[in-house]
Amino acid sequence: MDNNARKTIALCPVCGTGHVIEKEQVYACTNRSCGFHIHKEIKRTPISAETARKIIKERKSDVMRFTNASNNPFYARIIRIGAKVCIDFDNEYLKGRCPVCGGRIQVTQKGYNCENRLERKRNGERCPFHLNRWLNNREITKEEVERFLSGEKDILDNFISTAGNEFSGCLELSETGYVRTSSVVSVCPKCGNVLLVGPKGFNCSKFKEEGCTMKIPRRIAGHNITIEDVRQLCERDDHTTEPVAIRQANGKVIKRRLTFDENYETITI
Ligand SMILES: [Zn+2]
Ligand SMILES: [Zn+2]
Ligand SMILES: [Zn+2]
Repeated sequence: MDNNARKTIALCPVCGTGHVIEKEQVYACTNRSCGFHIHKEIKRTPISAETARKIIKERKSDVMRFTNASNNPFYARIIRIGAKVCIDFDNEYLKGRCPVCGGRIQVTQKGYNCENRLERKRNGERCPFHLNRWLNNREITKEEVERFLSGEKDILDNFISTAGNEFSGCLELSETGYVRTSSVVSVCPKCGNVLLVGPKGFNCSKFKEEGCTMKIPRRIAGHNITIEDVRQLCERDDHTTEPVAIRQANGKVIKRRLTFDENYETITI
């Protein structure tokens, strides 16, 4: 093969004079005395020219899927320290622990996995816990997963249903150990059906069919209504929240309780 026809990946990061070109089994420096190279297959995972370029220029690849000796998949980056190219086993883990087994939660290319999901534990069981990075066309951030792992129930917006409708919801652990979205946040105090969170407010699930008029806005006087506020308004006997920070007309922030009227349509401060 003509040398010029070979694909040049990048200038060699080690000797600085040779070029790294694609060969049959390696990407290697053209300077024979240099010896810098990257294998085209690492742990049975092919390394593309693009990935090789990234390893050369940015010193690390994206997180990739590999297979270990016992045939279990794992996720890691390839890193370059000078002329040395190797798998970086220093994986990234989130704050917080797996709600199913207590293991660490590893950040992967596709999302978030319990470390015991990929590797069998001694008793042979794998943990089912995982969370896709993309749920209903919305990216779930590390911070959001960490909040979920800490037990907080936050409202997440901008999900898109398969029918193309925007919706809001919370992260919820399924019976089988993965995380999904759910818009159910409480019980309607007026008719007893489920209460759903939406982009603009909290509505009764029988809002359309049976015309249940119960409603709670998402925001009152500068305060974002939380799931906990909704539960207190709907499920407490006095339908009143703990004091929340609200903004008065003059801009001053004060603490006040929110109370539902007897029709469950308006909230007084
Ligand atoms: Zn070189
Ligand atoms: Zn687990
Ligand atoms: Zn209702």
